[in-house]
Amino acid sequence: SGARKRNIRVADTTCTYCGVGCRFELYGRGEEVLGVRPADPDQTPANDFSTCVKGKFGYDYVDSDERLTTPLIEEDGEFREASWDEALDRIVDRLTDIRDEYGADSLAVTSSSKATNEENFLAQKFARQVLETPHVDNCTRLCHSSTVAALKQTVGYGAMTNRINEDIGETDCYLITGSNTTESHPVLATRIVQNVRDGADLVVFDPRKMTIADHADQYSRTKPGTDTVWLNGMMHHIIEEGLYDEGFVDERTKHFDDLKDTVEPYTPERVEEVTDVPVAELTNAAETIATADTCVYGWAMGLTQHAHGTRNALAIANLALLCGHVGKPKSGLSPFRGQNNVQGGGGDMGPIPNNLPGYQDVTDDDVLDKFEDSWGVRPPDEVGLRVTEMFSAIPGVEETVEGEQGTDAYGGDYPEDGEAERGTDDPAADEGYSPENTDLHGMYIVGENPAQSEPDIQHAEEALAALDFLVVQELFMTETAKHADVVLPAASMAEKYGTVTNTERRIQLVRPAVESPGEAQTDAAILQALAGRLGFDWDYESPAAVMDEINDLTPIYGGVTYDRLEEKEDGLQWPCWDEDHPGTPYLYEDAFNFDDGLARFVPSEAADEMHPVPTEEYPFTLTTGRVLYHWHTGSMTRRGNASMKQVPESFVTIHPEAADRLGIADDEYVRVESRQGDIVVRANVEETSGPDVLFVPMHFIHGAVNRLTKEEFDPRSKIPAYKVTNVRVEPLGTE
Ligand code: SF4
Repeated sequence: SGARKRNIRVADTTCTYCGVGCRFELYGRGEEVLGVRPADPDQTPANDFSTCVKGKFGYDYVDSDERLTTPLIEEDGEFREASWDEALDRIVDRLTDIRDEYGADSLAVTSSSKATNEENFLAQKFARQVLETPHVDNCTRLCHSSTVAALKQTVGYGAMTNRINEDIGETDCYLITGSNTTESHPVLATRIVQNVRDGADLVVFDPRKMTIADHADQYSRTKPGTDTVWLNGMMHHIIEEGLYDEGFVDERTKHFDDLKDTVEPYTPERVEEVTDVPVAELTNAAETIATADTCVYGWAMGLTQHAHGTRNALAIANLALLCGHVGKPKSGLSPFRGQNNVQGGGGDMGPIPNNLPGYQDVTDDDVLDKFEDSWGVRPPDEVGLRVTEMFSAIPGVEETVEGEQGTDAYGGDYPEDGEAERGTDDPAADEGYSPENTDLHGMYIVGENPAQSEPDIQHAEEALAALDFLVVQELFMTETAKHADVVLPAASMAEKYGTVTNTERRIQLVRPAVESPGEAQTDAAILQALAGRLGFDWDYESPAAVMDEINDLTPIYGGVTYDRLEEKEDGLQWPCWDEDHPGTPYLYEDAFNFDDGLARFVPSEAADEMHPVPTEEYPFTLTTGRVLYHWHTGSMTRRGNASMKQVPESFVTIHPEAADRLGIADDEYVRVESRQGDIVVRANVEETSGPDVLFVPMHFIHGAVNRLTKEEFDPRSKIPAYKVTNVRVEPLGTE
């Protein structure tokens, strides 16, 4: 009551940053966030009392003076303030003109993993029902789309198979690769480290020796881009030594013989040659993993963001299946998802070009009938463009240097599982729209920042500038919003009610603690107003009403209702088929998500050469990623005191040997240059990576690392190959 007297609002809510899904109490007054306190542990399944620095102090952005507070319309190169009526009318007129002139498929929508499930559901509905375009996608494309493609082929669902606390926190063994867990998923890393202190084995394979590796029983430094090779090598050794789980393989999988044939040539000696991992380290790690009763396989973007990202993810899935570490407690395949709602908003809700909500195929007539019955409009039945393809489909934009659309580092046919039934491969790889046969003229971007997040941002900027019409719905005037014709001020996660789904498939509530500044509105309210002006009477009175439509149309969310979530604050894990279903803590206990219930080995080949191969001109391999204090393109954390105090600007890490050879001193400015572009950043001379590998974080506008990365995509998932770029580096002198 004291709080009430001082007009303080307390919201039991879910963190806005990473996919761990920590819950806490958020305190606010008016538009101001006052702070965070631990919530009742019954309500905090992923984190108990813990939060990391971002969850605890990362709220300055909410009441930042830079928040957008009114709609803005661009006129003669300047933005001017506009009323909501004028801005929405402008959008309706321009989208309608473009659709009349070029057809519905000249429009594209991108949605956001920073919006709620309900808002993402509405964003894809806006694209498919209101605009009738097949082109809808979101930033999942950039992080784990290769994981999703691989897991759908091997086990059936494109999601983490297990729980955070009861499984990741209690397992006997870990293989962690391509994940800077301590900085990117801090509370999860704390659980792992506690469990390792209690005796669990930790094996880390990674080109960078990050903090999580300090706790490892074994750390092996790999050459970037060679993951399929060492994963196949582990399987080679496990099969040769007879250490695999024969009972599991016989009873619960198929295509083992194909796997055996494929990994046969990957001898530990060959692996050492290709990956730099010594024979003894590879075999020791393989034995530790294979002989563990339970094991968790954790990975993030170091494994996925490659021109062969799907192959990498297939290989780790094959390894877990070979060892029988899926479908039981304390074990599982654990892709660590990035954004707080990338699993739900980015995947489950269907703002993706090949799937309607719940991973229902856009080419399946029964599914389309169901949506048509509900919406009165049949959703487009073709697979639309992925976000990474959209920027090559805008007329008048030159292809970039070195832009190799959908190349595969290893060539040859992609592994297929012709028998996939319920869990399916991503059909978008081969069919539907392609940038060559599509001309995009208008884009509607909800909370994404492609002018910083796309590879080769020179190209993305050109593409955004070439659009006939661009709407951006945002908190801030981002680099992307600067290209817009209309900018709409959106509400932050601290200002709205809805659900988000964390990395363990757990659907949890977010609640408002503060008022939105000025005239900012929720993404849901904006989309509903626009749909109304375009002739569709969306009459959702609340996010709960949107969830009613979601659970009606999306079988895996069939039993998810606000009544249940309000009553049961620890959320519900999908699949949750109906109102009596308790949710599914870990997947595949009895059957994998295929009609015959069996998992599939989908063997994954790799070439002997790392890709792309460094040259004399560009001798270093650049890799990218996050740091603890910042978040993605930085639009939130660069407005935070705590974050900016710790890491105020971009940097490049360089090994002392290389720095010495090039005459680079710690902290001095250097130029890093690739075939795409160049940036100037400070040098951090340190031994995190080997002498041939550089690292630049992804969070900054000045020294933006995506000026260096190129548009090369995994042909299956179209994820960009952010993790391997050939570069050179030079000192700039002292002045
Ligand atoms: Fe938020 Fe992730 Fe930190 Fe938890 S670990 S407080 S979810 S950023």
